[in-house]
Amino acid sequence: MINFGSFNNKWDKHVERKKINRDWDIKNFRRNSMAFKLSQRSLDRLDGVHPQLVEVVKKAIEYTDVDFGVIYGVRDLETQKKLYESGKSQTMASKHLIQEDGYAHAVDLMAYDGSNPSWDIVDYDNIADAMRKAGKEVGVDLVWGAAWHKLLTMSPDSAEDLMNDYIDTRRKENRRPFIDGPHFQLHT
Ligand SMILES: [Zn+2]
Repeated sequence: MINFGSFNNKWDKHVERKKINRDWDIKNFRRNSMAFKLSQRSLDRLDGVHPQLVEVVKKAIEYTDVDFGVIYGVRDLETQKKLYESGKSQTMASKHLIQEDGYAHAVDLMAYDGSNPSWDIVDYDNIADAMRKAGKEVGVDLVWGAAWHKLLTMSPDSAEDLMNDYIDTRRKENRRPFIDGPHFQLHT
């Protein structure tokens, strides 16, 4: 006897998957047909950031299929103290502080969906892939805030795989992963 219930179920799943693929295509078409540009505000926030990292961010905006803006470059000691004390930063030795060479070595990039900020980690994976490509071209080593254990620019894995690997590594060590998707820093 044919079990229609199970057929219906499979078909539903198939339709569901098709719908997801179609939505994905529409989204990508919309995204790929747009060239993103850094706003003046984003460019201003790159003031005081290491010139090579600035170069990476400027290239990455051309490669990314998710729009982003710069929310932080240089951070003063007072602000860093507050973030550290509230647990939003895990270190007082932040690369956002001016380093010995006179530049900050970190940027925070916020993903946008249209004019709305996005907190979807998938968007940050995509930005990290663009940063990885740009970093390789500029010839600098980068660390991404969602995969602290390996260099983003040296790993053959996609940013998404790298993040999952980081989470697995931390869990095996019984440590909580510290995911800071918007954060990128020079490995120096
Ligand atoms: Zn940061």
